[in-house]
Amino acid sequence: MKIYLLLISLAVISTFTAKAQRKTENIIVVTLDGMRWQEVFNGADPVLLKNSAFTKDSESTSSKFWNDTLNIRRKKLFPFIWSEVVKNGQIYGNRKYKNDVDNANPYKFSYPGYNEIFTGYPDTAVNSNDKILNKNTNVLEFINKQPAYKGKVAAFTTWDVFPYILNKWRSGLYVNSDVDTLQFESSNLKLINDLQFLTTKPIGVRPDVLTYMAAREYLKAYHPKALYIAFDETDDFAHGGEYDQYLGSAYAEDRMIADLWNYIQSVPEYKNKTTMIITCDHGRGDLVKEQWKDHGQKISDAGHIWIAAIGPDTKPLGEIKTPIVLYQKQLAATFAAILGFTFEAEHPVAAPIQSIYTK
Ligand SMILES: [Zn+2]
Repeated sequence: MKIYLLLISLAVISTFTAKAQRKTENIIVVTLDGMRWQEVFNGADPVLLKNSAFTKDSESTSSKFWNDTLNIRRKKLFPFIWSEVVKNGQIYGNRKYKNDVDNANPYKFSYPGYNEIFTGYPDTAVNSNDKILNKNTNVLEFINKQPAYKGKVAAFTTWDVFPYILNKWRSGLYVNSDVDTLQFESSNLKLINDLQFLTTKPIGVRPDVLTYMAAREYLKAYHPKALYIAFDETDDFAHGGEYDQYLGSAYAEDRMIADLWNYIQSVPEYKNKTTMIITCDHGRGDLVKEQWKDHGQKISDAGHIWIAAIGPDTKPLGEIKTPIVLYQKQLAATFAAILGFTFEAEHPVAAPIQSIYTK
């Protein structure tokens, strides 16, 4: 009897401590497609800024994004990352300090990258950007199966391949992409729906700001506990060789992330209970300057990426300068672990990055 009581009280204590240790109840993941670590850590590239083939109006673009001092320059491009995140969160991937974050998949383009982020499994059979239904179980559908999260997981994406990457038909996730109609009882969402059908679509899919606004208004109206926002413009403008537009989109996406974080921290339901992770699907070339436009298997440094994290369980370590190699495949288990879950699937899942959520 005494032993039973002791066991029961130990069980109560351990449950209590496990809950007390993890403050995060909600998770937000944001990706910037093909956003190079070079600009995240160093700001605008002076060679590309001066090259009129890539930057039409060098003077005005430089006045927005250039400064001789690195810390000021990178903050001009990513003000939220280099103020709020560097003060209260963590940023991985500055290769100057041998703090490496890499694609584990060999392909270094979008679908394999997003598959790796959300399944934790760099499946070599995933080797195309075509609209193919993903066979691999992803961590968002795993979270959606947990009782407290059922129907509380949503993804808003600019690129229209995400319904296939996240396999919404199997996973049952709410995935809103490109021109998927926003059918909600919210006047703001109805307005955004009209806008997305009437925009000129400079990159061929709806502009990132509409993806963001749809996600934000959905968050306000429906209170998801796991939200994914996938921006796309940076990759499209880079492929087009438009460095000024690439920088402009990177800056705008940082502003949207700041807007979202400010909202999160103003609502009791989310405040100090929400972790946000920002990352990208792949890098781009750099060794040969013209290669900044491209990525893929033939470009050696296109597998170099970065991760930023902020939230109540993330130690405020700022820019991480310790030599280490992390992989994109570790993110899926990290998203689950932050919420207190262990992500398991029918395929191998890489270990989480514990330093993101260990106080
Ligand atoms: Zn691309």
